[in-house]
Amino acid sequence: MKLGRKLWQRGRDLYPISGFHFDRPLVLLQSDDWGRVGLRDQEGLEQLRCAGLALGERPYDFYTLETAEDLSALNAALKGHRDSSGRHPCLEMNFILANLDFAKMNADGPSQIHLLPLAQGLPMGWTRPALMEAYRAGIADGVFHPALHGTTHFCRSAVERNSKGGGERANLLRTLWQARTPYIHWRMSWIGYEYWDPEQPEEERFLPAEMQTELIGQTVGAFAKLFSSLPRSACAPGYRANEDTHRSWAQHGIRVAQNGPGAFVPPHFDRYDILHLFRTVEFEPGTDSLFSVETCLRQAQRCFERGLPAIVSVHSINFHSTVRDFRSRTLQLLDEFLTALESKYVDLLYLHDEDLHELVQRGSYKTPHGSAQVNVIQKKFTMAQLRRQRDA
Ligand SMILES: [Zn+2]
Repeated sequence: MKLGRKLWQRGRDLYPISGFHFDRPLVLLQSDDWGRVGLRDQEGLEQLRCAGLALGERPYDFYTLETAEDLSALNAALKGHRDSSGRHPCLEMNFILANLDFAKMNADGPSQIHLLPLAQGLPMGWTRPALMEAYRAGIADGVFHPALHGTTHFCRSAVERNSKGGGERANLLRTLWQARTPYIHWRMSWIGYEYWDPEQPEEERFLPAEMQTELIGQTVGAFAKLFSSLPRSACAPGYRANEDTHRSWAQHGIRVAQNGPGAFVPPHFDRYDILHLFRTVEFEPGTDSLFSVETCLRQAQRCFERGLPAIVSVHSINFHSTVRDFRSRTLQLLDEFLTALESKYVDLLYLHDEDLHELVQRGSYKTPHGSAQVNVIQKKFTMAQLRRQRDA
């Protein structure tokens, strides 16, 4: 079994893939975790500190939830920039479409998980006036573009198993849930990611195909209810997706799969006709202590030299402000970054995932002011080649 899998992986690594390259500098912004509640602001912070949690060790201890004000500040910042076609940068926002329904979970005892769809509002104890309107305003303005992250960020069976298991883990869950915080991932990585249970044997960590299909169907339905449109791009929580995830996404109308950073992999189609994109610039000032705009500019330049799009990763925490003000610094640095890109690359284009999908198929894509033309060049590569280049 293991040998078979190894051989199959080697075969796949050597299989030539047709990758897309471009003769203009393209910039995409991809952002995860929107709609997912964390620490319940100052009140939640105090409650958890009283319960004995030493919050503040890592930035994700201060992950809360965006406010309408965070979103309007981000909206305004993006509107302050334009590419060579006159278009604003557009943030691909990957949404988590449900939160824990703390009201129901109290009634049933702690072990059973109940979910509250984001379309029905926020859980008990949480308030965010005009949040939905602020998402929709950014979408209408063309600076936000909603996409799929998941229904939950964590693996439900892993959380339920540990919650029923008693002991330290169950206690930690209970303490957090009493403060209306679902989890803090770095303190409890055993909760895994939506399609991936870390405590199973290696070959069985991804949920079975049928289960993933059912979950993805529900997630797409929840997205449609919230945004009155279907998602076309998706990013698996924790980037944990396998062939079964991709197949189910394709069955549900997803055309673009977002992958995590690491290598300069050219955009390419898989066997389910999904266009795979790989993040290449890590713009995470809120969580990266070594962050610098110069590094991000160098990463973008390296992409353009290879004819690849600069795909910028920037998680939602960077725009949060209620407990720690991540937002002010991020917006200032983002402004610096985009200003530098615009002045250095006069033919720069800002796109979102669906535009890039249209571009690789037609050689152009629609913009608010007409259409943008880019030469698309196809070149063969293998994953083994990319790995050698990366390690060289
Ligand atoms: Zn995420």
